[in-house]
Amino acid sequence: MSRQRWWGWGVDGHDQPLPADGDALLTAELGISPDRREPPPLEALVLPPSALAPGVRSALENVVGSAWVRDDHASRATHAVGRAYPDLVRLRSGRLDVAPDAVLQPGTAVEVLGALRACAQLDLAVVAFGGGTSVVGGVEALAGEHAGVVALDLGRLTGLVHVDVRSGLATLRGGTFGPDAEAELASHGVTLGHHPQSFEFSTLGGWVATRSAGQASTGSGRIDDLVQGLRLAAPAGEVVTGAGPATAAGPDLRELLVGSEGTIGIITEATLRVRRVPGATRFEAWALPGFAASTEALRALVQADTAATITRLSDEEETRVSLAMAGAGPGVGALKAYLRTRGLDRPCLLVLGWEGADAAGLRARREAGVRVLRAHGAVTLGRKAGEAWARRRYHGPYLRDELLTRGVLIDTLETAATWTSLLETYRAVGAALRGSLAARGTPGLVCCHVSHLYRTGASLYFTFIARQEEGAELEQWHAAKAAASDAIAAAGATITHHHGVGRDHAPWLAGEVGELGLALLRSAKATLDPTGIMNPGKLMDWTSDNAGYGNRGEPLREVR
Ligand SMILES: Cc1cc2nc3c(=O)[nH]c(=O)nc-3n(C[C@H](O)[C@H](O)[C@H](O)COP(=O)(O)OP(=O)(O)OC[C@H]3O[C@@H](n4cnc5c(N)ncnc54)[C@H](O)[C@@H]3O)c2cc1C
Repeated sequence: MSRQRWWGWGVDGHDQPLPADGDALLTAELGISPDRREPPPLEALVLPPSALAPGVRSALENVVGSAWVRDDHASRATHAVGRAYPDLVRLRSGRLDVAPDAVLQPGTAVEVLGALRACAQLDLAVVAFGGGTSVVGGVEALAGEHAGVVALDLGRLTGLVHVDVRSGLATLRGGTFGPDAEAELASHGVTLGHHPQSFEFSTLGGWVATRSAGQASTGSGRIDDLVQGLRLAAPAGEVVTGAGPATAAGPDLRELLVGSEGTIGIITEATLRVRRVPGATRFEAWALPGFAASTEALRALVQADTAATITRLSDEEETRVSLAMAGAGPGVGALKAYLRTRGLDRPCLLVLGWEGADAAGLRARREAGVRVLRAHGAVTLGRKAGEAWARRRYHGPYLRDELLTRGVLIDTLETAATWTSLLETYRAVGAALRGSLAARGTPGLVCCHVSHLYRTGASLYFTFIARQEEGAELEQWHAAKAAASDAIAAAGATITHHHGVGRDHAPWLAGEVGELGLALLRSAKATLDPTGIMNPGKLMDWTSDNAGYGNRGEPLREVR
């Protein structure tokens, strides 16, 4: 069952208070108030009634066992939506207009197949649920045209199936959470090295299903680079792909399954490329002059094959806001003075995480990278700032909960663009977000960082922050999100670099892959999921006809 607090991120005991500097900045620049809006108790959350008839329930119990079919309030509430800003706003509002009729927890891949067949016969939509950390409406419990909807929680399908250290391969079950996967791999001396910020609460199957990217993806590869083989259960049967290191046996079926977001089947196992645990690591921070010049430094680094495993550059605004939010306090003044003496009035912070088989390997790689950085005017800030980032790498989402409590809109969105169009995309998306927020009378802060480098381009990850528009929180968010998505599409960039398509990006998918491309994806879905029960309304299954499924910004309406 869901590991997280029902109304927000993570588990109790890790809450992040808003530091005094951050509070002062948001009060002065956004006009937030000191008032607190705590989430309601779980019992007060209103859900649509469960439509699970007794006969349907017993048919599902026959497949997975009676203990693993749940329709209690808490199970339904914790499997209704993901962890995007609009999800949290709706949970905190005390009313959801979507919820699964039941939550199923199959224990084996065979039970998953049986559950899908049963759901097809019973006309129940199925939403695969890993960690439920989707930020694009991917796990929203939409029934679509079907009689009901179940969340298929992968929480019992966990653990290492097989490891082949000699070949650098490991097979893990789809529901394995990040820390559990790494702990099992570490006992064999290997690592996957995939660390999305949601690492603690997201699963292997979720990563593969959304083509996720981790903080170390510049060095270790995205999850799609790491998948060698997959086992997928679909209503029509099982598909198993990719036994060998490479093949010329026609189009690569893996590519159809990776990123399929639960719309064609359930990833029950994945075989991934793993490597030896690095013998040496080093975190450090640098300051660079201006975002345009800094991105040139990143291009030079990656094209010379000297980027660090983690290479993360904040623009001027993100650097300023992060320093305030980190509660850096009096040290910030000294740091700013130090940078000014080096001509860096509005610096961009660069965090680097180096890895090597041993200290000598790390040193050689780092020295080559440092030469490139110095040639671009970078000033070292030493190891402490880098180590502080590494210590806090999973803390940010807890602060988001505190900001929501203080009536703040805070959301993120991401894209990727070529080096040639990166800055133009950066400016266009930033302008769209600022314009949308200002037009509603809630001018905002727009921050950006680059954290995934490729020889041909890089990702752009935006955070936008504003005072919530009370009573119109979802409309305010929806307007900003749509404006940014339109700007991304107009710049010719991708609608998502790693969050996936889900419900929120689906209206922009046809523009990116073309109507014929979309038809091709739909034909694969029709083969594996002939009655269309798998995750309705998401990815390739979205049409303007089902735009009203669930409330993510439109006025509240009944969904079935
Ligand atoms: C605070 C926060 C930080 C985040 N940081 C990152 C980041 O750094 N990088 C990144 O890429 N993403 C990030 N995300 C987004 C999210 O964590 C990723 O998309 C992650 O891969 C989802 O994994 P999950 O197990 O939670 O999947 P879920 O949210 O449960 O599901 C995501 C989608 O995949 C489908 N799915 C899940 N499991 C399976 C399966 N076994 N088979 C088939 N379909 C399945 C679901 O139906 C849904 O469509 C972040 C999200 C949050 C809230």
